[in-house]
Amino acid sequence: VKKRGKNDYEFYSEELDVFLREKIVLEDDLRKAIERNELHIHYQPQISTAHNRITGVEALVRWNHPTKGEIQPGVFIPIAEEAGIIFEIGSWVLREACSQMRKWHDAGGPLIPVSVNLSSQQFHHLNLPKFIRQILEETGLKPEHLNLEITESMMMDATVSTTILQELSEYGVRFSLDDFGTGYSSLGYLRQFPIHKLKIDRSFITDITMNKHDQAIVATIISMANHLQLDVIAEGIETQEQLDILMSNDCKEIQGYYFSRPLPAAEVQELLFAHAKT
Ligand code: C2E
Ligand code: CA
Ligand code: CA
Ligand code: CA
Repeated sequence: VKKRGKNDYEFYSEELDVFLREKIVLEDDLRKAIERNELHIHYQPQISTAHNRITGVEALVRWNHPTKGEIQPGVFIPIAEEAGIIFEIGSWVLREACSQMRKWHDAGGPLIPVSVNLSSQQFHHLNLPKFIRQILEETGLKPEHLNLEITESMMMDATVSTTILQELSEYGVRFSLDDFGTGYSSLGYLRQFPIHKLKIDRSFITDITMNKHDQAIVATIISMANHLQLDVIAEGIETQEQLDILMSNDCKEIQGYYFSRPLPAAEVQELLFAHAKT
């Protein structure tokens, strides 16, 4: 039997072992999460700066793990992608988000678009358009009430995604380019693909009150969007000062903790109803 040394190699391999085992356990738990009802969605309002009204909500998935507590999507979405179960999870989110919008509307709330984040793997699934059509028929939402958030890098890789994008777009589903400015940012995409909205990444907003470069970038994105007749939304607004700069640059829609954190459906419903009355 080899004696246990204290060399780096063994140190790292032990760490890696623990890490891998942990991941395999999580993967396994995640496979069961849907049927065990452990996933839920928080919704974050999107606000028109001119009227201070809710123009839409973004669905952000959470996982209530039986022993580990709430796990954030930044942790488990990459695991789901690697394990090849993102299509199941993404499909659950799509159906749940659309049926929630239907419930809010049935209860007397406004019918506004719900934004759902897509993974590139979902995007390469040829059944996606059919599946989405089915959900919209089931829930009685119009295609324009579904807004799919995709990233620039997702459009880089394959031709399948272009076909799916075109098909869904012709059907009437809207697309937003999420995390705009952080990816490959080939502006050619904006002409080539049916994108309706640019979502300015939070990293440009965080220091915008201090950083002249970020201010210039944000101003440029907004003006470009206006010229291309694209809608634009800024994410990660946390302060009045940030909001003031965006408004002075003619940004018409924002999302961020300043107005509201992502909230459980019941709390969003209260906001939607309070809004409907004013
Ligand atoms: P994202 O699509 O860029 O979502 C925005 C993230 O920023 C969310 O984190 C949201 O809670 C957070 N956020 C919103 N406003 C503020 C703010 O004012 N300040 C700060 N500091 N953060 C803010 P979350 O919910 O943890 O989601 C992280 C990422 O996980 C999302 O980034 C998205 O890429 C992914 N994700 C979430 N739900 C889904 C899903 O259903 N499917 C897929 N494929 N990805 C998802
Ligand atoms: Ca998003
Ligand atoms: Ca984003
Ligand atoms: Ca992001």
